[in-house]
Amino acid sequence: MDFALNEQEKMIQSMARDFAQRWVKPVAMEIDRKCEFPFELAKEMGSMGYFGLPYPPDYGGVGAGYTGWVLVIEQLSCVSMVAGAIIGVNSLAEESIFRYGTEEQKQRFLIPLARGDNLSSFAFTESATGSDPMAIETRARPDGSDYIITGQKQFVALSPASQVAIVFARDEKDKTGRVSAFIMETSSPGYNMRYSCETLGVRGLSPSVIYLDDVRVPEKNLLGEPGTGYKIMLEAISVGKLAVAAEAVGVGQGALDLSINYARDRKAYGNPIAELLSTKWLLAEMASRVEASRWLTYRTAFLRDQGASIMKESAMAKFFASQAAVDVTRMAMQVHGAYGYMKDMEIERLYRDAKLTEIYEGVSEIQRVIIADHLLRENA
Ligand SMILES: Cc1cc2nc3c(=O)[nH]c(=O)nc-3n(C[C@H](O)[C@H](O)[C@H](O)COP(=O)(O)OP(=O)(O)OC[C@H]3O[C@@H](n4cnc5c(N)ncnc54)[C@H](O)[C@@H]3O)c2cc1C
Repeated sequence: MDFALNEQEKMIQSMARDFAQRWVKPVAMEIDRKCEFPFELAKEMGSMGYFGLPYPPDYGGVGAGYTGWVLVIEQLSCVSMVAGAIIGVNSLAEESIFRYGTEEQKQRFLIPLARGDNLSSFAFTESATGSDPMAIETRARPDGSDYIITGQKQFVALSPASQVAIVFARDEKDKTGRVSAFIMETSSPGYNMRYSCETLGVRGLSPSVIYLDDVRVPEKNLLGEPGTGYKIMLEAISVGKLAVAAEAVGVGQGALDLSINYARDRKAYGNPIAELLSTKWLLAEMASRVEASRWLTYRTAFLRDQGASIMKESAMAKFFASQAAVDVTRMAMQVHGAYGYMKDMEIERLYRDAKLTEIYEGVSEIQRVIIADHLLRENA
């Protein structure tokens, strides 16, 4: 059992830490205040190869594995979860195409995504459903060598910046109307982004409402076999959850770092609050929870690098790390007292950001169900 990062991973981690300080930290508060997608920052991230870390150079990637990828997401999220989340959300389409795409689809769509020339969205959720995939109402109707897709998608992150979206719809070609996954170009007539929702935290991720008004998609843009959309979604989201776990670790570590500094500086009754036993208890609990989350996350990335399925492991990592991030930012807020509650303090932003990790890419309740179902199957 080797818990050490290799030399390449250490270098990736150190470069990401520098990048976060140089490029992310100066704009983090402004992105949050404006609640607009950070185009310039995303471009810089692309030029660092951050959107292609796990993918082979043949497909525009860096070949640094999922461990290198997780290290970068963690370091960026330490400073701004939006930055880490952009990589995570973009990976959903990348992962779908990498695992299920034809060679032509990989050449055409994956390479520009991995290189950071394009960005992508993943349009699964609808107004009536997020957790229940059986409730999808968007329809894909065959028409010659095309499909006509009609429906509405909700909370589609990265929409203002995406050239490509993976859209899930009920396939009328499939006898039982199962869901298929389609690669849709967002410039297609009928693909309309109506507005980006204003959110509590992770402001700038731009979850948007998308109207699909009879969008024509060539059949060659169907991903995998007709009716296998749900399988593709689960596979892609198993990696998306790993990203969310890394975001949670980053937010937790960021909150811990801020709290240690603040506790050293802030005095009460003539002494730094760091000397109070109650503050030490909080710092100790925060550090322990972040560390446990980190190793659960790294191990899941390591398994993915070995080619393993991580359905159970990524559900565990997301479930545990997201709860830790919410708890740790709450404790960090307590260490900061009234100052932490002020809008111009970084901890106030991290406190709001953390909550999303318990919600998107599957609420914690669903993660519990996935984990328990695996346990019951394994022990049948
Ligand atoms: C900022 C943001 C970005 C997002 N980005 C995207 C995106 O890019 N693409 C996309 O497709 N979606 C995206 N989403 C949607 C997100 O993934 C869903 O909102 C999420 O999966 C939860 O679905 P829901 O809101 O419909 O919750 P619901 O399914 O309505 O659940 C509400 C609550 O009911 C309970 N519940 C529901 N089902 C169960 C169950 N089976 N067992 C136990 N309890 C249950 C839970 O307490 C849950 O929190 C985003 C959401 C946000 C907030």
